[in-house]
Amino acid sequence: SGARVRRAKGKRPPKYLDLDADVRFEDVAGLGEIRRELEEIVDFFKYKEKYLRRGSKIPSGILLCGEPGTGKTLLAKAVAGEAGVNFFSISASQFVEIYVGVGASRVRALYQEAKENAPAVVFIDELDAVGRQRGLIGGSGGQERDATLNQLLTCLDGFEGKGDVITVAATNRVDILDSALVRPGRFDRKIFIPKPSIRGRIEILKVHARNKPMADDIDYDAIGSATDGMVGAQLANLLDVAALNVLREGRTEITTDDLLDAASLEEGGHADARTRSQELWHKMALNEAALAVAAANFPDFNDVQMITIIPRSGEDKGSVRSKLDSMKFEISTISRQGMMDYMTLQLATRAADELVFGRDQMCTIWSDHYNNARRVARYYVFCGLSERSEVYGMFHCWSELERYYEVDREAKRILEACYSRAQKIVEKNEVLIKELADLLMDAKVVKKEDFWILAEQHGNFLELPPLL
Ligand code: ADP
Repeated sequence: SGARVRRAKGKRPPKYLDLDADVRFEDVAGLGEIRRELEEIVDFFKYKEKYLRRGSKIPSGILLCGEPGTGKTLLAKAVAGEAGVNFFSISASQFVEIYVGVGASRVRALYQEAKENAPAVVFIDELDAVGRQRGLIGGSGGQERDATLNQLLTCLDGFEGKGDVITVAATNRVDILDSALVRPGRFDRKIFIPKPSIRGRIEILKVHARNKPMADDIDYDAIGSATDGMVGAQLANLLDVAALNVLREGRTEITTDDLLDAASLEEGGHADARTRSQELWHKMALNEAALAVAAANFPDFNDVQMITIIPRSGEDKGSVRSKLDSMKFEISTISRQGMMDYMTLQLATRAADELVFGRDQMCTIWSDHYNNARRVARYYVFCGLSERSEVYGMFHCWSELERYYEVDREAKRILEACYSRAQKIVEKNEVLIKELADLLMDAKVVKKEDFWILAEQHGNFLELPPLL
């Protein structure tokens, strides 16, 4: 079996068909009972005639509810794979268009394709994007969404040959779905996909370990407990991260420690890295690369331990693990030069964005770093560390308001100087930053040793001119 497409001569290939979806139930781990429920659907596809002769109820739509990364898409693909039918998929967010009618016509096109290539499973991800309860405050586009939803309802209600196309939809917000969607004959079967238990996590890890070079003595129990709260997508990612580290360190086997390292990196992070766009990954990688490369220029900050674009607990950003992490300036022994260096390297993130994408295509991914620099600049001036505050005496202002104004103006001057210094660093190290960003895109984590190997090849850490 497997996906099969009957394609009429001269016709465009179907747009929503997913051809590399040969997934089987054995690829989905830790979902015992749930899998059995879906096996019924497979059975229906296989023995449809028998079901129809017996007058059994034809399954229409199945709703998989659960958090991102719990394996909903995988399950839907496995249903198609096991039944040997075609798999069509779309994310409902693609239905939501500003132009009236576009969403509805996409729904029609999707089902048209599925019908022409039946039997088929149609998978609709993020159903809530279009299936929100009507009349709920949901921002703009209400009318358009209604038209799309109505079209979807029509398609679900079926046509001749009902039973040839079965719709599986996924959502994390079953609570806000329009009640019309869950009526009998539509998504009348709801299946909750929970986060995996420790046993489930171990099974999932083992599925993904199948074709990886694992050491013989992997302590799956230890990894299972260290991954509390993680979903399948994160567990799959752990194995990828570990495998890449092993590869780059020239070792041959993934060990328990590799997996524990990867797990602690993930730190139970809940951000759904899987749904990030390629563009966001790229911007993040450049951002972190610029920060690390700039940090490497300064004695106070060149202890870069690890660079990663894997988000930490729910934050949608990566990080450079070094002293920078815990940098506090209030009552600290960090020198005046050190503070200027800190501002400079924080601003290097923005400078790199500007250099690589140009002024007009810059974004704000670096805004936290920019704010760090601003905060320190004010503090620097406020504590009387800038030349101007020394020469003119910041403390001789007429009023508090005037003082704030003066502090800001001086802070701005310092930030500008730091920024042009950051630009020089970034320009001199453009190749290194890009190489590092590429490596980050691939590996998600770059360790200290690999960073310095790259830095030695492409780095340009010349003496910097004094700042001010
Ligand atoms: P969802 O659709 O719920 O957001 P996906 O099915 O897209 O999640 O899961 C993303 C990836 O995570 C899958 O392709 C698979 O590699 C892995 N994964 C998730 N759940 C499981 C599971 N139960 N067993 C094996 N792998 C899983």
